[in-house]
Amino acid sequence: ETNISAILKQLGIESINPAYSTGQNWASPSNEKIIDSHSPVDGKKIASVQVASAKDYDQVVETAQKAFLHWRTVPAPKRGEMVRQFGEELRKNKEALGTLVSYEMGKSLQEGFGEVQEMIDICDFAVGLSRQLYGLTMHSERPSHRMYEQWHPIGIVGIISAFNFPVAVWSWNTALAWVCGNVCIWKPSEKTPLTAVACQHIISKVLTANDVPEGVSNLVIGDRTIGELMSNDTRIPLVSATGSTRMGKAVGAAVGARLGKSLLELGGNNAIIISSAADLDMSIIGAVFGAVGTAGQRCTSTRRLIIHESVYEAFKEKLVKAYGQLRIGNPLDQHNHVGPLIDTDAVASYLDSIAKCKAEGGNFVVEGGVLSGGDYTSGCYVKPCIAEVKNDYQIVQHETFAPILYLIKYKELDEAIALQNGVPQGLSSAIMTLNLREAEQFLSAQGSDCGIANVNIGTSGAEIGGAFGGEKETGGGRESGSDAWKAYMRRQTNTINYSNTLPLAQGIKFDF
Ligand code: NAD
Repeated sequence: ETNISAILKQLGIESINPAYSTGQNWASPSNEKIIDSHSPVDGKKIASVQVASAKDYDQVVETAQKAFLHWRTVPAPKRGEMVRQFGEELRKNKEALGTLVSYEMGKSLQEGFGEVQEMIDICDFAVGLSRQLYGLTMHSERPSHRMYEQWHPIGIVGIISAFNFPVAVWSWNTALAWVCGNVCIWKPSEKTPLTAVACQHIISKVLTANDVPEGVSNLVIGDRTIGELMSNDTRIPLVSATGSTRMGKAVGAAVGARLGKSLLELGGNNAIIISSAADLDMSIIGAVFGAVGTAGQRCTSTRRLIIHESVYEAFKEKLVKAYGQLRIGNPLDQHNHVGPLIDTDAVASYLDSIAKCKAEGGNFVVEGGVLSGGDYTSGCYVKPCIAEVKNDYQIVQHETFAPILYLIKYKELDEAIALQNGVPQGLSSAIMTLNLREAEQFLSAQGSDCGIANVNIGTSGAEIGGAFGGEKETGGGRESGSDAWKAYMRRQTNTINYSNTLPLAQGIKFDF
């Protein structure tokens, strides 16, 4: 039995929590608005958080602006040292924070711990990165000239995050942004405010221990209105936004209109191609976990299976059998496979998608439905379901954030790749095959058009070492590993002339 009140105490959560923090300092809002956070696990209210006003937001931005003037002068490895200590604090709080993630958001306890582990991993990555913010040197075409490029901090990074990875997305952004010399303002999802408050308490200890001024790590609680203020704010040069494509289009347009930079991590519509040369036993694990893990609420969740006609019936049978064995229930009980959806609005959207799919001709081979009574009193538990469909159904073209899996049949690999690419989104993709030619074609320029393309691994989840993100309506942003850090810095090209003359580029003569 999990002792939630002990966990809330450890993480500094009160029954009513202040609306914003600039690091160590917390403040109440200048209005009366409050968000109550209810757990989708049992429907109970966990605690409340006050909502920041536009005036409060302004105050935070001013504090952040001042903090940036200092933070940008701290050597990057010293900034990395703060991030190293943050990783240590996260290790100490992994169990408590992971449990709160599970209870407030509804993902399984293992996934809650896994999410905090990702935060720890990105801290480790960022510590190393703090000594590797490398620029290039180039050979100048002019004699006695030196040319190079360097990377400078960009300023305030605004972070807007989604409910489904309530804490990891923040750390993917902050850990890199901080070592790059930036300060951050985080607006978490209004559906998961408590995990955000907990994270700010964890970092605040590190800020105090290192005498870091107010304004390096800022948290502002609010709904989309705070996100809109950030998007339109010329004081915020970079807005990193994770969420739905609808949100990303609004944020991208607002930031673009002022020629700011946005880093967008939006919805996916991820498919696995199951080829005739697939290891079907391995494929079933990837497909089922991808479709029902986190109750289908990952941006990388498997939404579509594109199955070769020769293995279609056999694979369908295996899937139906596997779905029959799924245990749906309290995600804090590690015996269960599938937890709740985030709220009853999400349940309504799941039911609506099932109805639309049926109306378009979808054939359900595993029926959906909402569970009630007993452990299901929150009204957020639904049955994972499977439908045979056509890729061009409107509903199949759309990301429904719920455990609905679509099956599509194919004959030739070219056709399968066209189906896989034939949706507006471009996040994650996979092929299950033991045939080298098929695998390489899938990964080639004529293959998957997604930001992530896997072979013999499902679509769901990713390691922090690679750049994470997707194309098309997924928004084009990249976070986390590889050289994703460059999005958080401004590039400067420098040319130094150490000769006695001033030769012009391209041999231009300008004598007088
Ligand atoms: P959402 O779009 O409803 O909300 C995300 C965040 O955006 C919230 O903080 C919200 O307050 C804010 N917001 C909403 N409208 C806004 C606006 N007009 N201007 C500024 N801010 C606004 O998404 P959600 O339901 O919380 O999360 C689920 C979605 O997130 C799915 O589409 C999922 O695929 C996507 N997601 C993508 C990634 C990725 O890395 N690609 C990761 C996680 C989630």
